[in-house]
Amino acid sequence: MFEKVLIANRGEIALRIHRACREMGIQTVAVHSTADADAMHVRLADESVCIGPASARESYLNIPAILSAASITGADAIHPGIGFLSENAQFAEMVEEHGFTFIGPTAEHIRIMGDKVTAKKTVMEQGLPVVPGSDGPVPTLEEAEKIGRETGYPILIKAAAGGGGKGMKVARNPDQLKEAYQLARGEARAAFGNDEVYIEKYLGKPRHIEIQLLGDEHGNCVHFGERDCSVQRRHQKVIEEAPSPALNAEQRAFIGDLAARTAAAIGYRGVGTMEFLFEDGQFYFIEMNTRLQVEHTITEMITGIDLVREQIRVATGAPLGYGQADIRFQGHSIECRVNAEHPETFIPSPGKIDGYHAPGGLGVRVDSALYDGYRIPPHYDSLIAKLVVHGTTRNECLMRLRRTIEEYVIGGVDTTLPLHQRIIAQQAFIDGNYDIHWLEQLMGMKK
Ligand code: ADP
Repeated sequence: MFEKVLIANRGEIALRIHRACREMGIQTVAVHSTADADAMHVRLADESVCIGPASARESYLNIPAILSAASITGADAIHPGIGFLSENAQFAEMVEEHGFTFIGPTAEHIRIMGDKVTAKKTVMEQGLPVVPGSDGPVPTLEEAEKIGRETGYPILIKAAAGGGGKGMKVARNPDQLKEAYQLARGEARAAFGNDEVYIEKYLGKPRHIEIQLLGDEHGNCVHFGERDCSVQRRHQKVIEEAPSPALNAEQRAFIGDLAARTAAAIGYRGVGTMEFLFEDGQFYFIEMNTRLQVEHTITEMITGIDLVREQIRVATGAPLGYGQADIRFQGHSIECRVNAEHPETFIPSPGKIDGYHAPGGLGVRVDSALYDGYRIPPHYDSLIAKLVVHGTTRNECLMRLRRTIEEYVIGGVDTTLPLHQRIIAQQAFIDGNYDIHWLEQLMGMKK
């Protein structure tokens, strides 16, 4: 087992990783920017190293500074967390070249799945269904017109290097294609330095269903069921739940087994998530994330398994030590992503926390690095807390969520808690009857 792990991240996820390490008897090294000197994970870690100024490019994305911090502290392994360098194949390679273990998949798997065109090809070869569209990159407008005619409108132009919902534009008819195509490429170039795009049929009312996977380097892979992440705004998840109210036991077993078999066939190691759209009883693969995900918490709540612990364990080369039949599912879990933003305008609201009280009680989990008097820096993303509840039934979960949101006090800044309260009061949400467009329709952003 590792003796010391460097956590190359910040915020609630850095704290989450620190917690798993502590429970495993592993020492932790926090790295931080000058803006995060007072952060909770820095306070709790055994050691901390300042790796640069506030700008993420010069700190959390600064590979030489992170590797130097690992060297001087004598860390054995580096956990990249979520975002930042977690899906950077070159970083994974450099970590290993410098004699540390990268807590994640191989650089090769990160590379294959990081390019969504290659990712779709790879899983298709293993028999996974994908969204119909182009079978490769679409380098010219003429090509896009041809794919549009073949696929039928509406279509979605997507960045091959995409993430965070960026570089994605809908063309509802041929007249909209030129503009959508050019916008998608421009956005992709600006966000990822790569303007390669591909095309998919734009599904009208799908749900976003994803499968949590874990593989070891001995060829074993299991799944931990699905998460329903259909409550979205601008292609970004707002509320997630497990299990999905839309799947029956047969559909659940079908897609879980298929995803796990596919991951095993490519020799996948570590935690990973295959994302699908689900419409009219059919699953369509859209992408695989080769890292921990924000919403891993709800899977932990219904399985009782600490996924970060498992992730660290398989990174040491240990075999899983259990099989699919050993994984038991219990009850229901829902997560609200709480952002420091205005609940209607979504304008970011960094600043000093003036009064903080987290809810508690049976079946309540708050993953957050906030504390009273903490100053949320303006430089990073606005996720400040994950409010997670578990209940024996979905209804119990909803009631619990309602009372925990009422209890939660985050003073001094705007938060999206009122939006969450509004969402869970909607009859459609209570009935589990929503798709990926539902929230934006509720908010009047879409017809
Ligand atoms: P990113 O990596 O940027 O998050 P994804 O491919 O995972 O991009 O898609 C993000 C979201 O965009 C999905 O959860 C879904 O809501 C929407 N989306 C993606 N592909 C399609 C599609 N073909 N049809 C309809 N919606 C889609």
